[in-house]
Amino acid sequence: MIVEIPPRSGTAFRLAKGESLRVIDPEGEQVADLLAFNAEDVAEALSNGRTFDYLERIYLTSGDPLYSNRSTILARITEDTVGRHDFLLTPCSADTFRILYGDAHPHHGCFGNLAQALAPFGIAADALPCAFNVFMNVPVDGETGRIKVLPPLSRPGDHLTIQAEIDLIIGLTACSAGQSNNFRYKPIHYEILPP
Ligand SMILES: [Zn+2]
Repeated sequence: MIVEIPPRSGTAFRLAKGESLRVIDPEGEQVADLLAFNAEDVAEALSNGRTFDYLERIYLTSGDPLYSNRSTILARITEDTVGRHDFLLTPCSADTFRILYGDAHPHHGCFGNLAQALAPFGIAADALPCAFNVFMNVPVDGETGRIKVLPPLSRPGDHLTIQAEIDLIIGLTACSAGQSNNFRYKPIHYEILPP
């Protein structure tokens, strides 16, 4: 069953060990921020730093593991029709829109959406790590380290699938940041697939 996450919103749910989560970009050029936590102990969370360290790369694709802050493999990417995602940047937030875009009355962003959706699972806003930003296109200049946020390379129907290696709590959004979706706020679809 495909579920829609409306524009500028988010959700959270359990993903059991062995199940897969397929994140679909229904219209193209949209980003989905993905967080994962150990369902048995939510202090264990997705870690971009650990993942970069062990992979020796900052761009992830099919076959790559997503590590936790305790170096557990939480999930593995099993399918990727785009090949460009970001794992550097924090979820967009009211502060992002205030500092970067100069909004006087900023939207609470993916961060606010994730914090709201994850609160019922006992996960506090301060405990949210950097998200794996599915379809987000952030090229890095290898010499200067300068980063840019460009429109995603995803086209309608493109998707990325992860398979859970332990029982997980997942947070997932349809990104609220104009810069990451070419200023056209769009939905995200997802589907949970059995083992
Ligand atoms: Zn966002």
